[in-house]
Amino acid sequence: MSGALRYLSTRGRAPAAGLGRAIAAGLAPDGGLYVPEAMPRLDPARFDPHGTLADTATTLLAPFFAGDPLADALPAICAEALDFPVPHRALPADGAHVLELFHGPTAAFKDVGARFLAACLARLSRPDARPLTILVATSGDTGAAVGAAFHGRPGVRVVILYPDGKVSPRQAHQLGCFGGNVSALRVAGRFDDCQRMVKAALNDDALQAAVPLSSANSISLGRLLPQMSYYAHAALAWWRERGRPLDLIVPTGNLGNALAALWVRALGLPVGRVHLACNANATLPEFLAGAEYRPREAVATIANAMDVGAPSNAERLRWMFDDATLRRELPASCVEDATIRQTITRHARDHGEVFCPHTATAVHVLDERREGGDRADWTVVATAHPAKFESVVEPLVGHPVTVPPALAAMLERPATAIPLSADDDALKAWLAGAAG
Ligand SMILES: *Cc1c(COP(=O)(O)O)cnc(C)c1O
Repeated sequence: MSGALRYLSTRGRAPAAGLGRAIAAGLAPDGGLYVPEAMPRLDPARFDPHGTLADTATTLLAPFFAGDPLADALPAICAEALDFPVPHRALPADGAHVLELFHGPTAAFKDVGARFLAACLARLSRPDARPLTILVATSGDTGAAVGAAFHGRPGVRVVILYPDGKVSPRQAHQLGCFGGNVSALRVAGRFDDCQRMVKAALNDDALQAAVPLSSANSISLGRLLPQMSYYAHAALAWWRERGRPLDLIVPTGNLGNALAALWVRALGLPVGRVHLACNANATLPEFLAGAEYRPREAVATIANAMDVGAPSNAERLRWMFDDATLRRELPASCVEDATIRQTITRHARDHGEVFCPHTATAVHVLDERREGGDRADWTVVATAHPAKFESVVEPLVGHPVTVPPALAAMLERPATAIPLSADDDALKAWLAGAAG
């Protein structure tokens, strides 16, 4: 296989790596994020029009895997990870559509990336016989998806950090319900503290020598790459049917999901406009409106999986595109909690559609565009099932939301989490102790 794609660090001070190494490492050794050295170009005609989501993913990701020891396993990895439906359906109201990414085991789109990453890591041979510890900082959904994807797999252990009291009761239950090789740490701090603690542990060479560590945050290429699959699959079907690219409104926090859509467009596939829907955390909307890029502490909102003040994938975004291009081509909006609530209430009342608070940010962006006279066929990306956020959603819609069976099964299991202070050294000490 000629010309295996290599992956560079956004910080430019680490050697280029092959795909398997980049996936296994998570973060590059210089603290940067891995990005493909050049974006492959893909011809839409190369995709089987009758293929499944897993078939689309296999064709899409082949150039990213070419020449790597994982390449032969790609069809099996896609089949294993992408085995649930991703419906793209019309909304009753106004010709808009919704792409539902929440039909996996933990009812949020994070299942796609987590399951793919787990399927890759299970097939990567490691020189080290000791178990690999996967660290994951979560504002709610990632931790559950990663826990579910790795639960019971040999040779790996998962340590989940989440901000105590800042995830929904059902999310907290999901995070603590796994047991076995999955531990949950409830941190007395915010999501940004959890993310910083994970980075500090990953960058500590002495700790890494004692406890082999990797990460499963949205910085991981093994999560980002498969997230392109559902956009490519929906956009290709749309383009075959209508001859137009697919315009997307994406609920955004760490920017992994929206970046995947932009990468699909960069491959030459028919994704059109991408509009970022953020909650009150304004780092990206302010930057894209022309202000200096200013990461900051997160503020808590009812769309808690998007409570991010320092979006980790911004480094990839700004490595690939210059600021002027981004400001011209990437619209972004902030949606405050009160507006999220009104949106959930109104769409349930008027159209019988119940959205989770994250999805509702994107629905509001669509509503605003409609009020401004925009009649385009936007697709709203639905990132979680509303039953995960029942304490927000049910009082607004006035009736219980049916819990999907996989989520119901998790909620029936007992759950426990270990308390930890929001301190880098506290995590390092816990990891060193838990390994010994
Ligand atoms: C993680 C998450 C988001 C934000 O996705 P990013 O890739 O971090 O931008 C949005 N909605 C839900 C439900 C999530 O779990």
